[in-house]
Parts: sequence; C-alpha cells; structure tokens
Amino acid sequence: MITEQPRTRKQASSQEQRGAYKIVTWGCQMNVEDTDQMALYLAELGLREAERLEDADVVLLNTCSVRRKPEDKAFSLLGELRKLKESRPETIIGVCGCMAQLRADEIRRRAPHVDFIVGTAQISQIPGLVRETRQRRRFQKRLELPPRKGATVTDLPSRFDLGARPDVNRQSQTVNRSSPVASRQSPKIKAFVSIQYGCDKFCAFCIVPTTRGRERSRPTLEILEEVRALADRGVKEVMLLGQTVNSYGKNLLEGKVPFARLLWKIAEIEGIERIRYISPYPRDYRDDLIAAHRDCPKIMPHVHLPLQSGNDTVLKEMRRVYTVESFKEIYWRLREIPGMAITTDIIVGFPGETEEQFQDTLSVVSDLRFDGAFMFAYSTRPGTPAGERDDQVPRDDKKRRLSELIALQNGITCEINESQVGRVFEVLVEGPSEKQPPSQYVRGRGEGERHTTTEQRKTLWKGLTRHGKTMHFPRSGGVSAKLAIGNRIEARAEEAHLWGFYGKH
Ligand code: SF4
Repeated sequence: MITEQPRTRKQASSQEQRGAYKIVTWGCQMNVEDTDQMALYLAELGLREAERLEDADVVLLNTCSVRRKPEDKAFSLLGELRKLKESRPETIIGVCGCMAQLRADEIRRRAPHVDFIVGTAQISQIPGLVRETRQRRRFQKRLELPPRKGATVTDLPSRFDLGARPDVNRQSQTVNRSSPVASRQSPKIKAFVSIQYGCDKFCAFCIVPTTRGRERSRPTLEILEEVRALADRGVKEVMLLGQTVNSYGKNLLEGKVPFARLLWKIAEIEGIERIRYISPYPRDYRDDLIAAHRDCPKIMPHVHLPLQSGNDTVLKEMRRVYTVESFKEIYWRLREIPGMAITTDIIVGFPGETEEQFQDTLSVVSDLRFDGAFMFAYSTRPGTPAGERDDQVPRDDKKRRLSELIALQNGITCEINESQVGRVFEVLVEGPSEKQPPSQYVRGRGEGERHTTTEQRKTLWKGLTRHGKTMHFPRSGGVSAKLAIGNRIEARAEEAHLWGFYGKH
C-alpha cells in the first residue's frame, strides 16, 4: 500500500496537498476487512497511506471490544495522539469499530481531541466526516445500527472497477455503491471476502450483536462479482467472512440463499481453486453444507467449529443453542470427510463455571482431538448478560484452567501433526517464509548455530495445505518466486510443529 517510487517535485506537492492517512487496527478479521474498506474510502479522497503515524494527516483507530486488552491499548494510543494533536492541530483523528460503537461517550470524555467517532455500520460516512472536519472543526459521531433484522449490506466501496465487467447483470439488485476505485492492493493469491455482518445469536459473553447490529448478508451477485474480480487479478483462494457465516443468505431481495449454494456458485468461478470460510455456527451445519464439503473439491477440508464449552449447563448459560451431544454429532459427520481438519474456540472460566464443568471441557477436548484451538480465559464485557453476573470466576482459577487446557490441546495438536509426518500434502505456494530454517536445510550452518543470513532465510518458502496447516519448505534451485507463487505443489511433511510442518518439495 505504501508507494516507494521516487516522486517528482510536482507529484510530491500534489500528494502532500491531499495528505496521508494511517489506520491502526485491533481485533478480528472482520475488523481487518473494515480497515480495508476505510482505506478505500480514504483513497477515494486522494489520500495515500503514511508509513508512520506522525506523518499522517488523518489517523483512524479501528478498535475492538471483544476483550479488555485491545480497549486499553486503544485508550493508551489515544493518550499519545493527544501530543500529536497539540503539535499539529490540523491532524484529524477518528475512532471507529466496536469500541467506538459501545463507548462513544467515554471516548469523547477521555479523549476530547478526537474529531469523530464512527460505529461499525457507518464506515461509508468516513469520507464525508473527513471532508467536514477539514472545513469546520466540530466533533461528530455516527453510531446508527441497522434498525431492523433483515437489512442487506450494499454500501461497501468497491475494491475494483467492477462496473467495467460487462457480463454481470446488476439490474436485479439494489446497489448503493460509492464510485468504484481501482484496486489499491498488489496482486496476491489469497483474499478475504466479507459476506455477512452482525449477528442474531446473542451469546451471553459476546458484545458483537450490540456493536455490529443484527445479521445482514451481502447480495449474492455482489459477492460473486467481487470474487470474479479477485480471480481475474490472480487470487486463487478466498476466505469468506461472517460472524456466523454459515447462516448467510437470510432476508435477501433475491430470497433465501443457503450458504452451501453460495459456496457452489463461487466454486464455479474460473481461477478460484480454494474456498474457506470463518466463523461458522455449529447449529447451522445443514446436510447441504456437509455434502458440499464432501462433494466439492474446491471447498477446503478444514472447519473451524467453535465449541466454547464441553458442559451443557455452561453452554446453556452462554446461550449457545446446541448441546455437547449435538455438537459431537456435527463434528463426527464432518470428520467422516476424508482429510478433514477441525479446529475450535474454547472459553474457560465463564461466570459460574465449576471445576467439574471445566473438567467436562477437558474431557470433550480429549475425546474429540481437535487439530488446533483458540483458547481464552473469559474476559468480562460490560453490557453483556455474562458481564453483569456476580459469580465471576476468580482470575487465578481462570489462569490455571487456561494453562491446563492449552497444555492438553497443544499436546494433541503436536501428536496429530507428528502422525502426519511422511505424508504428502498439496500446498498453495504463498512466497518466501520468515521462519528460521531448521539446521538440516541450511548449508554451511554449524551445529547449534541459530542465526541465519537473509539469504539463507530466503531459501524457505511457505504455503497452506488444503486442511489449513502451514508448510515451510526449501525452495528448489533455479525456480523464480514469480513462477512459483500461486502454484499448487506437493510437499512431504518432514518435521512436525505446533504451527504445522517443515517439509520438502
Ligand atoms: S454467534 Fe455468539 S459469539 Fe459469535 S458473534 Fe454471534 S453473539 Fe458473538
């Protein structure tokens, strides 16, 4: 995104007139995608990305509220930005994202130097807010969420000049798109595509329905159009994003579109070789989705299936609408698909969780043997039903339970990966690896010598297997990066780690 080309004086002065922006992002992949949208809106205003915060004329903080830590970090950065604003009062500072949605009044009180606060459903207001702030320095906020269930999402800025595609019938959809802009991204082989926003599930520990509003899906044609445009630019793998991605497709103007049907339609797009999605909700696995995994080779055999707890009482109190038994049923049906890998999310120390209930989680984890897991100690979120409870689990207990769970799951992950050493995997080559090569891969490195030269590091490449594990492998001599990136190769796993494999091509 940062242009390093030498600029003529004329070019430099016109760019400087338009200015530069910097966006600092915390949180999930949805936030990363929102940052992408924000960057597109700012590019439409003629701003370029600044390398450093201090060089930016517009600074946006895209915040996260899922845990306390990212909120603390955002407030800390806002404190530092006060000094920047004092030295350069014309700098525009905006706060966006979940914390902006939730704690706008507190942000205003603690950081009066902020120019505007924008909620999660109002990203398209950012260019107008920047323009208005430049004209009249007056604090503004835009926090409205979609008023009703069933709204569709149509106001995303275009990553590409999609209007240039002649083969797409856009007449049947209501499109409220801002003027398209050219891609600001360099060619890449993997891309994220948001297909759904908000959530209707209201889990007791989660702030998402409050911060992001009710569930809305993007029209199918819009998604297909974007994926085609990505494929035209060399993207081979798409990751579809949504809070409960497999409930996609309700309340669209075109009628209900089951998530499985969307996957099949994406699979028809020439050039797209791999399809992944995150995060699904266990109850929303229907027969057609499981069948699509079994029958469509472009849908990758990896599912991230969030368990959260292995005890029915805790699940009920979390307001997760499945039981351990129904979760296991879906899990084993998915496991029947050859090569399927399943990862999960688990929270320990939910309010009221007893030692026995935690032991139930350990026992389910031992039984199911997930390929990997994101594991968290429950973090109290004000404004959620769980956050109001007075039976919070003491911090030390949460810490201990989390360590026990991590030790168990990491052991399982290593065992599974170890058992796959010797197998040959299809790997989509992404490019040079940042990893230190193991000693057997480095010519001229002595026993016990840990440091490698840049040249030696460049000898390793990386990519993802079909089941979502990272493979680092030595580059075969004489093959240029350009020729190999984006290709699917076969690599044999030779050394297993928690994160995946070192292998040989
Ligand atoms: S399903 Fe539950 S945890 Fe996931 S976003 Fe919705 S409310 Fe939050």
